[in-house]
Amino acid sequence: MALSPPVRRLKSRPITFVFELPTEKLKEFWEGLEKGKVYASKCKKCGSTTFPPVVGCSHCFAQEVEWVDVQGEGVIETFTHIVIRPASFQSHPTYTVAVARMNSGVKVLAWLTSPKLSNVKVGAKVKLAAVQSPDGPSYGFTIVP
Ligand SMILES: [Zn+2]
Repeated sequence: MALSPPVRRLKSRPITFVFELPTEKLKEFWEGLEKGKVYASKCKKCGSTTFPPVVGCSHCFAQEVEWVDVQGEGVIETFTHIVIRPASFQSHPTYTVAVARMNSGVKVLAWLTSPKLSNVKVGAKVKLAAVQSPDGPSYGFTIVP
């Protein structure tokens, strides 16, 4: 059996990508975060509520939505602790994300801020709120004691 010749590889220099995401169609959502509100979109035709918000309903394809505040309490349905972080989150310490069903019925995926890991479990109560971070407005959960 013949040995394969060694593969010669060149290492490229690091490449940084910065995306500028268009926010015009969802400006109510982004402006809401800046004002301390977390909005979902609610279809004016069929009443379906979606988070993160969308401008076109995925149920009936209508294009008119209204904005409903989904802040408040919810219950964790699933979560994961992220230890092996994607390249764009290498500067963050390990973090935890959870999906919670809010009292309004909407499911929300968000980071848990400063969780005590032993308190993170399916069925735990969380509170969703807007968060002002150095990267811009966002939203996150905190565990309700
Ligand atoms: Zn709809």
